[in-house]
Amino acid sequence: MSGRILVVDDVATNRLILQAKLSSAYFDVLLAESGEQALAITMAELPDMILLDVMMPVMDGYEVCRILKSRPETAHIPVIMVTAHNSTEEKIRGLDAGADDFLSKPINDITLFARVRNLMRVKMMFDELKLRETTSQELGLSDFLEDHIFNKDETGCVLLAANNTDQAKAWAACVKSRLPFRTAVANCEEEATNIARHDTPDVFIVCQNLANGGDGLRLVSNLRANLSTRQSAVILVVEDGKMETAAKGLELGASDYIHAPFDPNEMVARLRSQMRRKKYSDRLRSNVRDGLKMAVIDPLTGLYNRRYATQHMQRIIERSGESGMPYAVIMMDLDRFKSVNDTHGHEAGDKVLKEFAHRLQENLRGIDLVARLGGEEFLVVMPDTGPPEVEFAAERLRNAIDRMDFDIGDGNQIPVTVSIGVAFGGPADKIPSVLIQQADAALYESKATGRNRVSYFATAA
Ligand code: GH3
Ligand code: MG
Ligand code: MG
Repeated sequence: MSGRILVVDDVATNRLILQAKLSSAYFDVLLAESGEQALAITMAELPDMILLDVMMPVMDGYEVCRILKSRPETAHIPVIMVTAHNSTEEKIRGLDAGADDFLSKPINDITLFARVRNLMRVKMMFDELKLRETTSQELGLSDFLEDHIFNKDETGCVLLAANNTDQAKAWAACVKSRLPFRTAVANCEEEATNIARHDTPDVFIVCQNLANGGDGLRLVSNLRANLSTRQSAVILVVEDGKMETAAKGLELGASDYIHAPFDPNEMVARLRSQMRRKKYSDRLRSNVRDGLKMAVIDPLTGLYNRRYATQHMQRIIERSGESGMPYAVIMMDLDRFKSVNDTHGHEAGDKVLKEFAHRLQENLRGIDLVARLGGEEFLVVMPDTGPPEVEFAAERLRNAIDRMDFDIGDGNQIPVTVSIGVAFGGPADKIPSVLIQQADAALYESKATGRNRVSYFATAA
């Protein structure tokens, strides 16, 4: 794993020690000797991670962290605070400032690399998701980021698994008294897994030892392997001093760890920070999904759009080339649709378009491609279909529109008709646009000869 890490410390020796350690593990290292310089370098270079000394003159680490986490451009960069004393108070101050993790001086190598690699993985995942979101171009990322980062009152679900239920309940009570999260408790691996099946927790807090010989590390590993819990955050509770267990947990996919016994404030602060990160990645993920969907689906009717239709038509044509089967291309255009808008309003027009799309789908097969090319123009491509079946299908579509009035709300119903043009395609035809033009020519003939009818492209069949 590689990445660029900014090391911030006012003492030169400390900077050089960290630089040596990180460089030996093939990370690129940037250096800053003050809070101001750290902000400037971060804005200019956008490193993948920041190791930030807490105690510095003029502007201390808390202040730097708060500023970085309040700016949309830098808020997602993980910050590890480097503290002198490893006190709970310092940690809580840091978490409140938005820090993602802590290291205490002198820095232990196992902890350093476990923390750094863990956060680097998270950072890479966010980068990947953001890249995909940017590609899908449907949403302004910076709007979304601000939206999210400054969204304070989030809800979520937390599962606490400890080796005795009373302990888990006590922690749950503590969480509930300070945060608006739902909680559930478990005392063994099986119970935790069962609960997770019904209501997937956003964050798991898992003890190293669980009842019935249960192993927290194994639970972490199973949660990561399971599709439904893969995206959940896991905080491992490790007995004080068990550095190797903590490092192993992070390696298995735990998002964070905490040493027991712990100050409830620290648990709450870590939980809040993990929940924020989980919700952030949920949002990114769903935006990516929606973005991809929006790229191929017409939002009004739920039908495929032109972009998808031409792509898919190409595939139908290729398959016909292999199978030798014919197919049909059907263009449709609503008759005198402008007057529906003019007479009843645009909203009524939209209702008609939706109902029209619905009737098309009801009268076609699953393998048929149904798309809205734009406005009140629709395309149907029927694979493996020759002239007699197509004539039957086209007439059925025309009739499905003509037969029954369309509901436009407020108890009003209006008649709607459609004109249809059909072209036949076979294994030798190669280009979607040519067939669409032929179907369009046939459609024009239907319009010219009285509308509400089906015409066929002359040279076909
Ligand atoms: P023809 O029978 O010759 O096709 O006449 P027409 O009125 O249907 O054709 P024209 O192309 O003149 O008008 C199409 C109208 O479709 C104009 C436009 O306002 C309307 N339209 C296009 N897209 C939408 C939409 O998304 N919603 C609504 N409500 N109307 C739309
Ligand atoms: Mg029309
Ligand atoms: Mg038109």
